[in-house]
Amino acid sequence: MINDEALHQIQIQYKELLEQMQEIARTVARRRKVPSSRVRELHAYVAASHRNALCPCCELVPVVSDDAELLGEIDHWYHVSRGDAEETWPVCRKCNLRLTQPSFKATKGSHFQAYQFSLRTVMMLQDNQFNLFAYQEVA
Ligand SMILES: [Zn+2]
Repeated sequence: MINDEALHQIQIQYKELLEQMQEIARTVARRRKVPSSRVRELHAYVAASHRNALCPCCELVPVVSDDAELLGEIDHWYHVSRGDAEETWPVCRKCNLRLTQPSFKATKGSHFQAYQFSLRTVMMLQDNQFNLFAYQEVA
């Protein structure tokens, strides 16, 4: 049997734990880096042009619409505070939820790296085009 005093102590400890968890949640939320519209556009373009518009994680669910709108969500691969293009990828809602499970995420590292390879290819091409235009303006 739990007496009233023991129950009261448990209630106090529970309340303290709850307050600590709420403070941690607030801290994480403050540090969350929402990917910029430029990053979202880049992911939409890479998924459409190199991934058949499908979620690069499951390769089943479309993440880009016919008019190049991002349908899926952006997963922060490393940490919610890291939201650059090289640290995120566009995935479907189901994958984004499952990626919070370490056992599932462990099986998707090669998928993330393959997507990042496509992203780097696109970024290099864009840099080259920019340099080409810059050269033409000078010439
Ligand atoms: Zn998916």
